[in-house]
Amino acid sequence: MPHSKSPLRAPKGTPLYVHLPFCVHKCPYCDFFSVVGKGEDHDGFLETLLAEAEVRAPEAPSTVFFGGGTPSYFTEPQLERLLARLNDITGFASSATEVTAECNPESLNLEKAQLMRSLGVNRLSVGVQSLNPVTLEFFERPHTPGQALAAVEAVKAAGYERWSADLIHGAPMESPDDIRHNILSVLDLGADHISAYGLTYEPGTPLHARLERGAFAAQDEDQELENLRVARQVLTDSGLGGYEVSNFSTSGQECVHNLNYWANGPYVGIGPSAASHVERTRSGNARSLARWSRSVHQEGSKPLYTETLEPLERLGETWWLGLRLARGVSPAEAAATAGWTGKDPTAPIQQKLMADGLLECHEGRVRIPESALALADHIGKQFLAPQA
Ligand code: SF4
Repeated sequence: MPHSKSPLRAPKGTPLYVHLPFCVHKCPYCDFFSVVGKGEDHDGFLETLLAEAEVRAPEAPSTVFFGGGTPSYFTEPQLERLLARLNDITGFASSATEVTAECNPESLNLEKAQLMRSLGVNRLSVGVQSLNPVTLEFFERPHTPGQALAAVEAVKAAGYERWSADLIHGAPMESPDDIRHNILSVLDLGADHISAYGLTYEPGTPLHARLERGAFAAQDEDQELENLRVARQVLTDSGLGGYEVSNFSTSGQECVHNLNYWANGPYVGIGPSAASHVERTRSGNARSLARWSRSVHQEGSKPLYTETLEPLERLGETWWLGLRLARGVSPAEAAATAGWTGKDPTAPIQQKLMADGLLECHEGRVRIPESALALADHIGKQFLAPQA
């Protein structure tokens, strides 16, 4: 059992995120902390991760999310060790209502899916990304469309009642018909949750560098808007509501772990680069295997940085995150989440954005209207520095 007296342990029941950073190949658009797994010490990594869990993972987490990286990159014996020992430490298999693992098609098979299910994972998120081989090649994904479909079939054959497909739209060569085909194909397989992300060119990534030196032309704004319109139309026509800017599901299939994140709720992250948010304090681990390992083995699993936000900053963050949700933000709930008790300093920001048609009021909540969803990031950021 965990060292329950550890000062770094979050309260019982806090949601848990576990970062597993290895991938077969580093995708050129990826700005997550992930590394090519070949040649790395995977067993040593797991021992370090479990040592960190002993000190920091909460008892009885309400949800668990294994993200990455590629959790399915690990072998079956490694996954068995990770899940069984993490359960010894936290008891997650009986406490968590939702336990999600991200998987990629090149490393997921029926046996792995079954093994994870037998050890407490009850939801898989499959990185399909596209079913067009040319787009997959542009993304440098190490799987084929056939492998993506086979991975989904493995998830279903293993008996998962909850699973999701990740898709990325907006590659330069992609047409609205490709987007429609990708979505309809995974829906045909029975998906009731789809994450449909627009491709972004993050500074510092190889794809951004190639774009900057003119190796290819990105889609223009009109094409991006059309992609978004087509994706939302196909998904909503098929009965999957957009509950977050990029996430769609049938009723009741929303990702509970991520809903808590967008509600600015508490969570603990373990593994390199993982962030935590507990009792109004944010902290984060090093984005380096060596530095993170040193913090676990030599510094008592102390995070690399810790910052306690003031209620005003927390209020801004709560709005910024919450406006990503279709249900929007309740001003009173946001103030309570942030611990803010004064006059609402976000009111002038809300009023201005409403006057511009970028926010609307619906049943006591403030939300971004469908027509302005493409601007969600820009709108949310207006709330990040409210003035008291
Ligand atoms: S598989 Fe995912 S985490 Fe790994 S490099 Fe590609 S985008 Fe990043």
